Amino acid sequence: MKKPFIQIDSDDFYQPGYNPRQLEGCILPINFPFCCPSHTSVFDGSLSWFIQFPGCCKNHREMANKSWFNKTNYAAIPIKVVTLIYYTEFFIINAVKKANWFEEICNYIEYCVHTFGHPNTGMFLYYTYLIRRLEKDSGKILDSKLLKIIEYLKLQYEGGAETPVPSLNVLFDTYNNWLNTFPFDIIFFKDLRKEFEKTLPFLQSKPEYNRFTGLSKAKIVTQDQLIINLVNTTQKLLQEVQIDKINNIEIIAHSEQLAFELMKERHRLKQKKLLNNYSIDEMPYVTVLNEWLTNEIEFFTEMRSFINTPLQVQLKNSNINEHLPVKPTITAYAIMHVYLERFEGTGITQQNKTRLAKEYGYNSGDRLRNEYVLYQNDEKRLDLHTNNKKSATAHLERYKSILPLLQKMNNRAFQAANKDLQLLEKAYNKHY
Ligand SMILES: [Zn+2]
Ligand SMILES: [Zn+2]
Repeated sequence: MKKPFIQIDSDDFYQPGYNPRQLEGCILPINFPFCCPSHTSVFDGSLSWFIQFPGCCKNHREMANKSWFNKTNYAAIPIKVVTLIYYTEFFIINAVKKANWFEEICNYIEYCVHTFGHPNTGMFLYYTYLIRRLEKDSGKILDSKLLKIIEYLKLQYEGGAETPVPSLNVLFDTYNNWLNTFPFDIIFFKDLRKEFEKTLPFLQSKPEYNRFTGLSKAKIVTQDQLIINLVNTTQKLLQEVQIDKINNIEIIAHSEQLAFELMKERHRLKQKKLLNNYSIDEMPYVTVLNEWLTNEIEFFTEMRSFINTPLQVQLKNSNINEHLPVKPTITAYAIMHVYLERFEGTGITQQNKTRLAKEYGYNSGDRLRNEYVLYQNDEKRLDLHTNNKKSATAHLERYKSILPLLQKMNNRAFQAANKDLQLLEKAYNKHY
């Protein structure tokens, strides 16, 4: 991915201010701002600031050295300040009656501030005089609401000066490092790569739209927050891979290739780690990935040991549904639940025995439960009745009848049952 950002030092960036839109229904008094002593004093105060500007303070003296600086661009500030204050007061008096009064007022104030451009020269006059006038307000607005507005204005004024903006390029590099680490090449995640490449998850919250400025804004995450989010995303993605849900026959057929891909990914991760590609903060997701890859490699390596056994060959080459298996006996169903219990906790209980027996087409829940309890005993279940060929054959048939079902329900339970069947078959072949 190419870096999509061009970073501009905020000191070198000039965006002119603009004239505020006239507020609907709001008509400025005749002779404004000399209509009354109060508006006159706001205008005069702003004007005396402008006369000194840019000699008024260190910041502005420095600003005066910038190539784009031109004092005449700021000549309208005094009239703008007093007009915005008139508009804002008018807006507040009308908006306080609405249900969403606070949000509306905040959005309007944000709009007024936005009209000062960047840098927002003169904005401090707007805040200062507006706060001063609202604090002197007599009874037009409910006290509690007024206090909330003043509090908001003070917070914006104090905090609005210069909050450090996280560098987008640093965030981009951090995100890109994760993109290059996550094993998107593995079949389970292949479809996700594009999606994650398209998103730049740098926003802290859903953007909020301001109908006055026409802009949506949201806070940008810090690098720390981004990394925490990436660790969470990693865990979530890994949890969502449910190998059991992917067609087992396909997995059996591809287990060798999968094990190879997983090993390749783990090796890649190790290399990246050795080359110091990660900061200490990034290590949690590296660790999570490494553990996951190791687990999966183990799983697929075990899986490979099943390949080429007669049953596996049979599964691999034929669609199990083509040869509808024998209907499992009630004992076979009981045995099936012994394996399901081990891997997903679904045993036969007093509560579910009747329902499950019915589901399997049998009447006696008690019998299902009794057989289940009996065959939970490993010795009993793995005993081949070597003195009786007929019952030994029947026991193998039980396993064969439930394997296709287990295969669809739970892959690990299927493997365990399949392993047991092989032991039983070995014993069977030895005796008969
Ligand atoms: Zn006036
Ligand atoms: Zn100044």
